[in-house]
Amino acid sequence: MTRLDELLQQEAFTDADIVRLLGLTEPDDCERLRRTAYDLTTRFIGDKVHYRGIVEFSNRCTLNCRYCGIRRDNRDLERYDLNREQIIESAIWAAENHYGSVCLQAGERRDESFVAFVEDCIREIRAGTVSEHLPEGASITLSLGAQSSETYQRWREAGGEAECMRYLLRMETSNPALFSRLHPHDFAHEKAYASRIRALENLRAAGFQVGTGGMIGLPGQTLSDLCADIRFYQRLDVDMLGMGPYILSRGGDMRDEGMLDPGPLLQLALNMLAVCRLVLRDVNIAAATALQVLAEDGREQGIAHGANILMPNITPRAVRRRYQLYDDKPCIDEEPTDCRACLAGRIQRMGRRVGWNEWGCSRHFHRRM
Ligand code: SAM
Repeated sequence: MTRLDELLQQEAFTDADIVRLLGLTEPDDCERLRRTAYDLTTRFIGDKVHYRGIVEFSNRCTLNCRYCGIRRDNRDLERYDLNREQIIESAIWAAENHYGSVCLQAGERRDESFVAFVEDCIREIRAGTVSEHLPEGASITLSLGAQSSETYQRWREAGGEAECMRYLLRMETSNPALFSRLHPHDFAHEKAYASRIRALENLRAAGFQVGTGGMIGLPGQTLSDLCADIRFYQRLDVDMLGMGPYILSRGGDMRDEGMLDPGPLLQLALNMLAVCRLVLRDVNIAAATALQVLAEDGREQGIAHGANILMPNITPRAVRRRYQLYDDKPCIDEEPTDCRACLAGRIQRMGRRVGWNEWGCSRHFHRRM
């Protein structure tokens, strides 16, 4: 047994172990890491991959995150909002197509009309997706940024039982210096490091299944930073992870800082998924859409490296082009039906099953409750 094989058998890892695993580049070594993560996934989670149909319902944003194509100061972008009927219709389409779960994502707003609008949509989706094959309606993941604890309470209660309500709030990076370089504080509502952490704690207190994550390969980010991110996820005892590679955005404000080359960036992102599986074991891990920018089968590679969640885009095609968080975002010219057919075939070819009509709750959440 090689030293790497011994390391991969461990149940606990030092920071030095984690940094070593994240930095693997030799194909044989990477494959060993991948295999271990994949086997742990099927052991802790099972062979099913669960879908969350994502509806990107508005690109209006009050924040100015420098990496992001829909940031407030990007003037080359036509802003849009889907109305209530369009959002409910997308959620019903997902339920009728046997997706047990939907995700509502948008830019960040905190005004009362937005909070009440989302609250209303949650109630309608929960009621409108009850059917023969989904007798308890769809579960919902919200990805709507840092909000007050009162807002979290309202949204959580609108959804009914705790099992069906999840919230994804990426920390983006746990390194405070890097965080503040990415989020200039020129606005009262700007993303601030401490308030982001407080928001994650408030989400847990409100009873959500809590997900966080970050971008991988940010300019200036080191392997030790990524290791610290994993420690942060551990400390927070998260139920879900949504992480993806950092991709340059023409609409962002970091064009001069470059990005990693696609090959090494993809490997780093896949290593990060795999190491998170090794360390965090029974959490739900999403294979981010951004992986597909780096390789046509990037999301499948994510599944092969320990992810168990996919988020097919079910946003109406007419507005998809206007939700370009980063350049070359995939599937922007497709309809939800195209995504459904192409993804399912890919999952089956990998020998995995799609958890049709299931909520796909985090095992970790069940264990801690
Ligand atoms: N506004 C909410 C928030 O910040 O949590 C939700 C929407 S935000 C656009 C969703 C995620 O997109 C962010 O958490 C960020 O990690 C990701 N994102 C934005 N720009 C990106 C880029 N250039 N490359 C990769 N991911 C990016």
